[in-house]
Amino acid sequence: MTSPLRQTRFKIGGMDCASCAAKIDTAVRRLDGIADVSVSVTGASMTVSHGGPLNDDRVLRQVARLGYGIVKAEAGIDGPAATAHDHADHDHEGHDHRGGRQIAKGAAGSSHPHSHVEPGQPWWRTRRAALTLACAAAVLAAYGIGHLLPSAERWVFMAALLVGLVPIARRALMAALAGTPFSIEMLMTIAAAGAVMINATEEAAAVVVLFLIGELLEGVAARRARASIQGLADLVPKTALVERGGSTVEVPAEQLGVGDVIVVRPGDRIPADGEIVEGSSDIDEAPVTGESTPKRKGVADTVFAGTINSDGVLKVRVTAAASDNTIARVVRLVEEAQEAKAPTERFIDRFSRTYTPGVLAVGALVAVLPPLVAGGDWNEWIYKGLAILLIGCPCALVISTPAAIAAGLATGARRGLLMKGGAVLEGFRRITAVAFDKTGTLTAGKPVVTDIVAYGRDERGVLALAAALEQGSSHPLAVAILDRAKAAKAPVPPALAARAISGKGVEGSVGGVAAFLGSGPAAGERVAMTEAQRLAIDSLNGQGKTVSVLVADGVVAGLIAMRDEPRPDAAAGIAALKAEGIRAVMLTGDNRRTAQAIAASLGIEARAELLPQDKQRIVGELQSEGLKVAKVGDGINDAPALAAADIGIAMGGGTDVALETADAAILHGRVRDVASMVRLSRAVMANIGQNITVALGLKAVFLVTTISGITGLWPAILADTGATVLVTANAMRLLRWRG
Ligand code: ADP
Ligand code: MG
Repeated sequence: MTSPLRQTRFKIGGMDCASCAAKIDTAVRRLDGIADVSVSVTGASMTVSHGGPLNDDRVLRQVARLGYGIVKAEAGIDGPAATAHDHADHDHEGHDHRGGRQIAKGAAGSSHPHSHVEPGQPWWRTRRAALTLACAAAVLAAYGIGHLLPSAERWVFMAALLVGLVPIARRALMAALAGTPFSIEMLMTIAAAGAVMINATEEAAAVVVLFLIGELLEGVAARRARASIQGLADLVPKTALVERGGSTVEVPAEQLGVGDVIVVRPGDRIPADGEIVEGSSDIDEAPVTGESTPKRKGVADTVFAGTINSDGVLKVRVTAAASDNTIARVVRLVEEAQEAKAPTERFIDRFSRTYTPGVLAVGALVAVLPPLVAGGDWNEWIYKGLAILLIGCPCALVISTPAAIAAGLATGARRGLLMKGGAVLEGFRRITAVAFDKTGTLTAGKPVVTDIVAYGRDERGVLALAAALEQGSSHPLAVAILDRAKAAKAPVPPALAARAISGKGVEGSVGGVAAFLGSGPAAGERVAMTEAQRLAIDSLNGQGKTVSVLVADGVVAGLIAMRDEPRPDAAAGIAALKAEGIRAVMLTGDNRRTAQAIAASLGIEARAELLPQDKQRIVGELQSEGLKVAKVGDGINDAPALAAADIGIAMGGGTDVALETADAAILHGRVRDVASMVRLSRAVMANIGQNITVALGLKAVFLVTTISGITGLWPAILADTGATVLVTANAMRLLRWRG
């Protein structure tokens, strides 16, 4: 998985349509030393993979020449929250990023509509809007003048047409020089020029105006998808009240550091991820998790940046800097995910690459064949051929998939369902089996010590020895034992050569005594157990408790039983999967009886006493039964199984989720979110199906009406811009998806 390639990210302005992305992709890929390029229209970004050091200037110039604004992206999140974040750890290669938004001056000058990155500009203030308005006004004026002075009509329309067409033609030329001869701009330019030649100037002008309006509307839609994810970043307040030396001062939220203690008043949004150190309150998490009922939180509970403190005054210790809080990581992840293409998207890209030249050929045949072969009228058939060129614009088709995927990824992220790219989102639809880890996934992962049984020493002695072994471990059971030791004020001696044995337990040497703490079977490999001990373990297991056996000096020294309650929605989440026809299996390293006790209460089949490699093997077995398997786990000791599954899902309950390691992540610890991901995937793929049908269907209809002479040039362009608008509007419906 690791590659020696380095990646550099850029922000790009003025990309509205997926064909823009394709043009930039082609142009940048041609540069030396570039291994891969991925461009996201909705993310307004591009990632370039390169072997050696990257010559930024060449990339900047190449993209600017096509008429787009481009700046090198900072490694942090984009948007207002990021402009002042800590820059110390990013590589700057000599660039001044203080402005954060420098605009590369395009070599092609500034007369085209694409030349600025336009952050936060409302769409009607953009250069593109100005150009569209100017062109529309010129065409309207031409109608007026044409009425008064019929002899001048042709020339005033020509002038109006040029206002819009010159910038389009220039973009067509630049794209052709950069390797994309069959661009939408090229089709437009040929069609408009051809129409002028056959004396259809008035219509050509109308076509150019409609084309510009269509592009403008697409831009508006692309901005909405972008705003939906950027809106998350805006949920974090810009300032925070920090406690410093007994008094509170207001500071910008970006300057908060880990360990700062902030005061959050009732009604305020919480400005950072943190842990409550004083006070308790109902926290409204709806904006961040989609969970509509507020949660009561008190000391030691975690809170997320962007959630609302409704009634009490809270003191919160900050646990993540602004650039690294949950929201910032989610925004960054979604932006990157939007660049990763889905298989359907790749297919459509390939298809449109042959589709456009194909339509050009059909247009040419329609223009020349009937007049040559059947003595048709040249003007009439050239007119039809030109209309077919306009039908050839693949914009609606090319945007059909990425628009829906981008909206789906953004919607998911807003509810805490993170998916790393279109391929993962698309893959969820095909999942037929879900394997769950038990501890921390189906259970809350916060086991509590319930019973301590001591043999030959007292309970505190057992606890002290166990805690000594667990000191370095982050396993949920270790945390439970350390908590109990602390509560019981048991003295915890240091352990020597302590090490964790994945799926079995921990061992080490404490005060010169070799000790082990872990599962029954693992303890059984080390020492012989008495019948009474075995019965004691069995009866605790039967109550759904996990038992870890303490071995010291070659004998069983004690038993520690812990109970980890299932997550409140675990049973409902599994039922939801079954309702979708998906098989659910629980995989656990815990013993059979405990597993059965918990599985029975959840209605899931269970496989128990598994080592990490067994979990991986079982995932493989399910796959060889022809199932598409998703594996849900906390990643602590099930990483091999997560990697082996078709989709690996990390599940957590806070800022500590291993977002970066799995294919997908469930941020808020809800088991039913697995089924939600599947449903979201199905909704997105259905949406894509509708989009492709509309895009191709409208074209098919207009192809027929054009050839039979019912419709002409401007309905032909409407078929593309209209379809594009319909397709994007349809995709944007996914932003309101509720599951
Ligand atoms: P799960 O599959 O539920 O995540 P693990 O594979 O992590 O469980 O562990 C399997 C069993 O090994 C546990 O039920 C426990 O008995 C024992 N074990 C593993 N790690 C530890 C530890 N750090 N302390 C005590 N017992 C442990
Ligand atoms: Mg585990």
